[in-house]
Amino acid sequence: MSRHFDAIIIGTGQAGPSLAARLAAAGMTVAIIERHKFGGTCVNTGCIPTKTLVASAYATHLARRGAEFGFVVNGDVRADMKRVKARKEEISGRSNKGVEEWLRGLTNCTVIQGHARFESPHSVSVDNEILEASKIFINVGGRATVPEFPHIHDVPFFTNSSMVDVDFLPEHLVIVGGSYIGLEFGQMYRRFGSEVTIVEMGPRLIGREDEDVSEALRKILEFEGIRIRLNAKCISLAKRGAEVAVRMDCADGPPEVSGTHILLAVGRTPNTHDLGLDRAGVATDEHGYIVVDDQLQTSVPGIWAMGDCNGRGGFTHTSYNDYEIVADNLLNADHRRVSDRIRTYALYTDPPLGRCGMTDSEILKCGRAVLTAKLPMSRVGRAIEKGETEGFIKVSVDADTKQILGAAILGTGGDEVVQVLLDVMYTKSPYTVVQRAMNIHPTVAEFLPTILSKLEPPI
Ligand SMILES: Cc1cc2nc3c(=O)[nH]c(=O)nc-3n(C[C@H](O)[C@H](O)[C@H](O)COP(=O)(O)OP(=O)(O)OC[C@H]3O[C@@H](n4cnc5c(N)ncnc54)[C@H](O)[C@@H]3O)c2cc1C
Repeated sequence: MSRHFDAIIIGTGQAGPSLAARLAAAGMTVAIIERHKFGGTCVNTGCIPTKTLVASAYATHLARRGAEFGFVVNGDVRADMKRVKARKEEISGRSNKGVEEWLRGLTNCTVIQGHARFESPHSVSVDNEILEASKIFINVGGRATVPEFPHIHDVPFFTNSSMVDVDFLPEHLVIVGGSYIGLEFGQMYRRFGSEVTIVEMGPRLIGREDEDVSEALRKILEFEGIRIRLNAKCISLAKRGAEVAVRMDCADGPPEVSGTHILLAVGRTPNTHDLGLDRAGVATDEHGYIVVDDQLQTSVPGIWAMGDCNGRGGFTHTSYNDYEIVADNLLNADHRRVSDRIRTYALYTDPPLGRCGMTDSEILKCGRAVLTAKLPMSRVGRAIEKGETEGFIKVSVDADTKQILGAAILGTGGDEVVQVLLDVMYTKSPYTVVQRAMNIHPTVAEFLPTILSKLEPPI
């Protein structure tokens, strides 16, 4: 038994639902298939739950600083993890429900729950049913990577998915992985009141960022009492009575860290292994990412891949932008391309890191004449008033074209302010546009003209 649609969408992540709505509104019959929770990673186990938890941790942290701000807290400030979790569930649950209700309410759209597998380039099976369409869109996302560390299956551990459901305070959380997800959870749990140790295989935290960013964040986290072990090689897990341990070869420090709980935060793996891609002939790379062209078409005509599964982004905004590219190309003949977008993202530690464009090392490699400026957040009036002066603002521009090449804002509001620079980058205007603008006082953004007046060749 088979059903025919104009389009099939597999997965309800950050691209699928919006595409379903757009195609259905254009008069196409659409089937959208979800095997687990509507809204995917961002809504259920990624951005929304973690940023909700980060907000609880920030409030707890500020409450502990009461004396500095001139207020009194009677008694200890302690996180009530059941209530922290309940707040998270309420906010994340609302989004999850919202996506499902939206999809079920769409005219021309059929929602199917179950695991989808390709049977051919134009057909997909869900349970015992075959669905056919000439256009198929894959939005299956990814999951936490579980590496083959020795004894990994003998020791209980959390991943981001199970960690967001925790409703108690781990006494000592050992986090394996000192990158974006590990740092957000690490600071959050330290602020809730856990002891936290972060074990990182590389020589520094968030190794994809510039060294000064890694170093500043290391200091911020260590100041809050987080222990950090770098250069951890040959990691293995072990049971130690009631405790769990992470063993490692490290130049410094003991060869083992014991704690009460372990969180693995060592990267993401695309959900492409159980999709029957071989039956459709869709090519993947050596890491399992679906190979796509600049307009997100796979190796098979009529099949597109959007979001984390195509390896071209890894963020909610990149997945959503994938949807826009696919929809505009299909429905508006707009010729939008992935290569037109500028890399941008944030790390939601406190202070956050807002990034756009190239890092210093990428700029160095591209061989352009560069001007750069870096000033500490302690110079920013708004940061001083808020009592949040950690971090810095760094901007690099092309000395010849005057276009902005990249920026890192590690500081209060950095996730928002960096987008002022990003938008100017999209216009390809010279940095002098920002330098001459009059901004609102007092804000972090008002400091951008000042920093841009200090540009110099790098030392
Ligand atoms: C802890 C954490 C924090 C994050 N924080 C941020 C952040 O602050 N900002 C940001 O931009 N990004 C963040 N991300 C990344 C972000 O969550 C993802 O990039 C985003 O969700 C995009 O995912 P997607 O659209 O590719 O698919 P997903 O959201 O992963 O959804 C894929 C969906 O497909 C379904 N599916 C998979 N296979 C099948 C199948 N065979 N049949 C049917 N259904 C299937 C899955 O059940 C899932 O619902 C974070 C990620 C994590 C893990």
